[in-house]
Amino acid sequence: MTTSLDFSYESRPARVVFRPGAAVSATPAEVAGLGLHRVLVVCGSRGSEVARAVADALGDSCAGLHAEARMHVPVEVADRAVEVARTVGADGCVAVGGGSAIGLGKAIALRTGLPLVAGPSTYSGSEMTPVWGLTEDGAKRTGRDPVVQPRSVVYDPELTLGLPVPLSVTSGVNALAHAAEALYAPDASPLVSLMAEEGVRAMAGALPRVAADPGDLDARGRALYGAWLCGSCLGATTMGLHHKLCHVLGGTFGLPHAETHTVILPYALAYNASAAPEAMAALSRALGTEDVPRALRDLAGGLGAPRSLAELGLRQADLTLAATQATATAYPNPREVTVSGVLGLLTAAYEGWEPRSDAGQGSAD
Ligand code: NAD
Repeated sequence: MTTSLDFSYESRPARVVFRPGAAVSATPAEVAGLGLHRVLVVCGSRGSEVARAVADALGDSCAGLHAEARMHVPVEVADRAVEVARTVGADGCVAVGGGSAIGLGKAIALRTGLPLVAGPSTYSGSEMTPVWGLTEDGAKRTGRDPVVQPRSVVYDPELTLGLPVPLSVTSGVNALAHAAEALYAPDASPLVSLMAEEGVRAMAGALPRVAADPGDLDARGRALYGAWLCGSCLGATTMGLHHKLCHVLGGTFGLPHAETHTVILPYALAYNASAAPEAMAALSRALGTEDVPRALRDLAGGLGAPRSLAELGLRQADLTLAATQATATAYPNPREVTVSGVLGLLTAAYEGWEPRSDAGQGSAD
């Protein structure tokens, strides 16, 4: 079946440099190319060694190193970083690390308008999006603002060599989720769909190799290449039920970001499959399978990732509230989102049943 073409596509200018060693060898030129002379380098406590190397390479262009990024960007962490940026007279920011470090850089950009350069060390894809997030009183607010989108992204597979295998796998599936939902987004377009399919192919092919040998630079490069494409899809489209569910489960119940994406994705795709045949066909081609939800569950589970929401610490009693919250406001999704439908999906994900595309729910058998 073919459908006539009807789409809008907008791309924002962003430079991407991709090569092993680029964090240290290319970041100074990227900073200089933006006309910056005093950048604040931000990272999380675990990523401070690499960020220190980047700061050293920047020499006099580095105004300081701020290693206080935390998951979901608590507002007090953002306040403190903005204060530091102002105190040192920063004219830009370089974020080195995962989605949390890049999120802190975005918070600085949002408040100050300072340009951001990103050196990602996970596959979260945040570096390719204009989406920011801030957590206050336990609630996470997100928004889109072009000012937070990194002006330049330095992809260095060497930065990811130390990413532990469990995090590599779940972060990789987090990336796959961006591509999967972009394929059926209301603002999908042919170029985004090409990026999504190639991103899924690259990431799904790389993850078993990364798990087998985390030091395999070529496999790390393929995974990071996939993350770039999947992150670009996230930045270009509006996400649906899967991302909404993960937002609720992370925001209200404190479930870990990438692990939650990993558990939910097969069930969200099973739920949407019948209403998104072209997206499923693209995912089938990329994964080389007829049964996309099951293949994704087997891929992640086979590499040791958690398979159920119960394993992540959710309580069965929370499922109804999660389903209610995930259906409280309208958002685009190929299949109608109902409380009972989502409760079925969440129950299957809670138990870790085989995802079933026909009913959109799992089954214990
Ligand atoms: P993260 O940045 O919190 O990193 C997870 C853990 O891995 C941290 O302890 C970190 O220090 C460590 N780590 C990161 N890179 C490492 C490396 N190379 N080696 C060893 N340890 C490393 O996790 P994440 O999944 O990258 O990001 C999650 C956050 O990003 C969430 O807050 C999520 O909401 C946000 N996010 C935002 C967007 C967006 O477009 N705004 C997109 C995706 C994710």
